[in-house]
Amino acid sequence: MESVVSVHGLRKRYGHFEAVAGIDLEVQRGEIFAFLGPNGAGKTTTVEILEGFRARTDGQVSVLGIDPAKGDAEWRNRVGAVLQESNAEPGLTVRESLQLYSGYYLHPRDIDETIALVGLEEKADTLGPQLSGGQRRRLDVALALIGDPELIFLDEPTTGFDPSARRTAWHVIHGLRGLGKTVFLTTHYMDEAEQLADRIAVIADGRIVAEGTPGTLGGRNRMAATIRFTLPAEVGSDELPPELRALLAGEDGRVTLTSDTPLAHVGELAEWAQSRGIDLPDLDVRRPNLEEVYLELTRGES
Ligand code: ATP
Repeated sequence: MESVVSVHGLRKRYGHFEAVAGIDLEVQRGEIFAFLGPNGAGKTTTVEILEGFRARTDGQVSVLGIDPAKGDAEWRNRVGAVLQESNAEPGLTVRESLQLYSGYYLHPRDIDETIALVGLEEKADTLGPQLSGGQRRRLDVALALIGDPELIFLDEPTTGFDPSARRTAWHVIHGLRGLGKTVFLTTHYMDEAEQLADRIAVIADGRIVAEGTPGTLGGRNRMAATIRFTLPAEVGSDELPPELRALLAGEDGRVTLTSDTPLAHVGELAEWAQSRGIDLPDLDVRRPNLEEVYLELTRGES
């Protein structure tokens, strides 16, 4: 495995305030890495240091093998960025914007192919300001890709998108992995991270508080599951077998059990219900979702 981004002990102080308080990160070639954290956690500061736009206070940073503080034009050609604010040129069409930007790079991608990649074929001759918000973001992605970078920073790429535009954008981002690109994604949407990311790091108050795959982040895979169901009116939860009664975590019309071994406990519940001739039509079993894990990890942070 080859590290495309490698960060050790990164710190950034603004005066006396430490916005990034000594973080370590590794991003491997070809992966989609999601960087999550509450407002003010230090994401933009970190990303801008990695992009070479901001100076660090301390620590070692290597992006594509180069210290971004010393990145030259050739290095810049290998890195693409979609910033929160739009880059689109107001007087130019989609195709013209891409033609202009392609001139800045040593080895630009094919323009029509890039337009197709982000699904803007029908808008290729439309002026930037006449695009919808979602289409403009797609143009931003196209502009970030036109130089054919190896590593792409995407800063909240789907903020303000409608659900179907978000799905399309996810498809595009997913497609980048197919092209062998490495993606460093900043997002506030847990479902986005869950859908796209190979790995997630959560930053809070300038520190990495958790790192893992969407399935394992914060010990999610080891967290207790909840088993919920409604009993018929004439059956009380005190009639459940003792092993299940011991798991009782709440009763608000529906019974809630918490279990570390949900499969075994659901089996017991099913056996008991069948023996009593009871149906449990609304039975559900779930692990904490990524949003719940995230909120737990960042609880008490701003
Ligand atoms: P958001 O999700 O809101 O974009 P973020 O995680 O990107 O937040 P940063 O923009 O990195 O957060 O900011 C981290 C902290 O550093 C914040 O408390 C912010 O106020 C502070 N900060 C950022 N830039 C500066 C600056 N130029 N001077 C002083 N403080 C700054």
